Amino acid sequence: MTADAPHFVLDDVLDGQIAQAASLVSGARSVVALTGAGLSVESGIPPFRGPGGLWTKYGEPPMDGYQRFLADPAEAWRERLEPKEGWAKGLRDTLAAAKPNEAHLALMEMERLGQLDALITQNIDDLHLQAGSKSVLEIHGNHRLLRCTGCHTRFDPEAVPVDPAHLPPTCPDCGAIVKGDTVQFGEPIPPDVLRQCYRAVESCDCMIVAGTSATVYPAAEFPLHVLRSGGTLIEINPYESELTPETSLSLRGPGGAVFGRLLHHLRATGRKERT
Ligand SMILES: [Zn+2]
Repeated sequence: MTADAPHFVLDDVLDGQIAQAASLVSGARSVVALTGAGLSVESGIPPFRGPGGLWTKYGEPPMDGYQRFLADPAEAWRERLEPKEGWAKGLRDTLAAAKPNEAHLALMEMERLGQLDALITQNIDDLHLQAGSKSVLEIHGNHRLLRCTGCHTRFDPEAVPVDPAHLPPTCPDCGAIVKGDTVQFGEPIPPDVLRQCYRAVESCDCMIVAGTSATVYPAAEFPLHVLRSGGTLIEINPYESELTPETSLSLRGPGGAVFGRLLHHLRATGRKERT
């Protein structure tokens, strides 16, 4: 996937489409972005599957990770504190080295300019927050944070004392067991973030779907909801996806270059006139 980026040339046709996207964005009442793994490839985070994928390289995580956590939270915590060689360590090292790319920075700037109202991401890599975006809804959690299984409060790791002799740690607020915020296989999406996503999606009339084919629930429902309510879908993806035929505009290129150019056009268009 990354091999495409250095050869990418933004031609006049694509630039015209990006200008058209900028006018759809500035003309919309409310804009929401939905981002996925493709957006972080340019930050050095390979996709999970396929050649060069994290799981191809390090092995796949257990498909019943959440059930394993519930069955033995102390053991799950021991593995979290000292990941063995394999997918957990590979993922941790890759995420630790990743930095936001031009796409993350452009999305932050769009929010600052009043051109983006919410950012829903399937990524756990923390890169939208590191870029400075504020209205970030992480449906699969954030690898840096911890989350209470009772009251769903998120914590910075320093806020929850972890004593290896007394695992698992418990919530300072309600006493329930604390786990990593990343949503594991078999784990329901935390209801609070899901509610906020639906609220953002229901009030938006323009959605930018970037770096994801959005085929997995619940993300799959968001673009469909926008379509059903007569809104506009803009896709930014180097590859055609299952969503492409449904979109008003599909911008075929790497996220960094396309978002960078979109931001350029949005700045040229001026500030959004809010009604
Ligand atoms: Zn709690």
